[in-house]
Amino acid sequence: MGMQGQPLLVTSLIDHAAREHATREIVTRWADGSMTRSTWGEVGRDARRFAAALTRLGMKKGDRIATLAMNHGHHLVSWYGTAGMGGVLHTVNPRLFDEQLVYIVNHAEDRVLFFDAAFLPIVERLRPQFRTVEQFVLFDAPARDGYLSYRDLVEAEDTDFEWVALDERDPVGLCYTSGTTGNPKGVLYEHRSNVIHAITEIQPDAFNLSNRSVILPIVPMFHANSWGVPFAAATVGAKMVFSATNDAQVLCDLMHAEGVTHSAGVPTVWLAMFAHMDATGIGYGALQHVTIGGSAAPRAMIERFMKAGVYVGHAWGMTETSPIGTMGRRPWNWDSMSFDEQVDVICRQGCPPFGVELRIVDDEGHVLPRDGKTSGRLQCRGPWIIQRYFKAEEDAADADGWFDTGDVSVLHPDGVMQITDRAKDVIKSGGEWISSIELENAAVGAPGVQEAAAVGVFHPKWDERPILLIVKKPGAEVSEASIIDHLQDKVAKWWLPDEIVFVDELPHTATGKLLKRQLRDDYKDYKLK
Ligand code: ADP
Repeated sequence: MGMQGQPLLVTSLIDHAAREHATREIVTRWADGSMTRSTWGEVGRDARRFAAALTRLGMKKGDRIATLAMNHGHHLVSWYGTAGMGGVLHTVNPRLFDEQLVYIVNHAEDRVLFFDAAFLPIVERLRPQFRTVEQFVLFDAPARDGYLSYRDLVEAEDTDFEWVALDERDPVGLCYTSGTTGNPKGVLYEHRSNVIHAITEIQPDAFNLSNRSVILPIVPMFHANSWGVPFAAATVGAKMVFSATNDAQVLCDLMHAEGVTHSAGVPTVWLAMFAHMDATGIGYGALQHVTIGGSAAPRAMIERFMKAGVYVGHAWGMTETSPIGTMGRRPWNWDSMSFDEQVDVICRQGCPPFGVELRIVDDEGHVLPRDGKTSGRLQCRGPWIIQRYFKAEEDAADADGWFDTGDVSVLHPDGVMQITDRAKDVIKSGGEWISSIELENAAVGAPGVQEAAAVGVFHPKWDERPILLIVKKPGAEVSEASIIDHLQDKVAKWWLPDEIVFVDELPHTATGKLLKRQLRDDYKDYKLK
């Protein structure tokens, strides 16, 4: 063999960061407003102590260690420390419903649960139903009756813990999908998949991270590994800034105080930030690059960032894809494009990085052309795409590795992918598909519109017709006519909604996305005027 075969391990990420970027900072702004500052070097040492503490608690290779926590430095240590003792870190989403929390903790058979004091009420309520959890550990508060503390555990240990022997195909992380239908399903990440994903993520056409970057991941660490940012940042020694709350004012202040250059989050987060910026006049500080994903980034949002000189990386992915599936990249002829053309490019969901293959198929599984017009079910495959859900009996991918994403998309000849809908959200009018996403995005660009949702309602002639549910911006003057007027030149005439319904708020999933299933149920029997 001509070359060495070191396995690709998550522990090698932290070893590298601790060795080569020892003094680069890791900053946490806690929920109570206090700040702590650490470094990649310290995180490396604490991860070894954390691994030693888990071992002392009797944890063994392959055991699942759960966290119920927001973004902070201790959470980061737990990721790397768990990896180093051979454990599988299960990041639990605290916004799930009680029955889902109970289901996933029991399904994962978590043995230890680390959690933030803010979630004590959840833990106290559900503790009797968490059948396999032996120890409950507070991340950010002193020990108390029945609860250990992170600080006591870590401080009792030395930094000389030797990582356990690992194979790169060993599991290291577990994340459940939010289960918009049926029970949540567990996606098991491996050392190798996480490392390759991290190396991909730093690339210029992806998150564009370097040693000079200061990254504030707003996307929670329980949402598809904070999109892999805590792993990617370790490869280049980027400074990391964590906030344990998602309050827009806190995030804006932090961005300014810490010189944040890069950030990542779902569209709703940025809407809240914009509202705060409008109210206070505060600017973007040193921000250069934002990654927006999780649901389609509205055009108005992309335009606003780009006008301010902030580059938008519009990303598509899912828990099952680790999560990077595609990333909006600037094509070679970017500089010769007009501003509007550039925005057009970024409104689409981007291109697969090396490692991901995409195709679209019809309902019978025939591969469809990449012609920029035909839409079909999006499938993908690659080394960081799911093979099989945790404890499932059958593969989630077919024999050739193709995983059906449940999304509907168009593939353009230049490699750009454009999501047109989720298979279950498409509105079928007279046998033709109307993209609920495109309608929503167009509507969000209308003056005075805060948020929009398009749903199909029964129609005797067309089977289904779209209606638009609109949340107005506070105090805004918006009418059905003003919205239809705005949409006229943005979507095909037959896509125009039959009705506009003004609502006070729209339901969201645990990860901040529109809860379409509930809306479909709520408006199932809606009578068009
Ligand atoms: P959940 O189903 O729990 O919300 P994910 O966070 O994994 O899980 O969501 C993945 C889904 O989010 C994708 O299948 C897709 O429908 C949607 N999505 C993600 N990014 C985008 C995007 N940029 N544009 C449109 N839809 C997106």
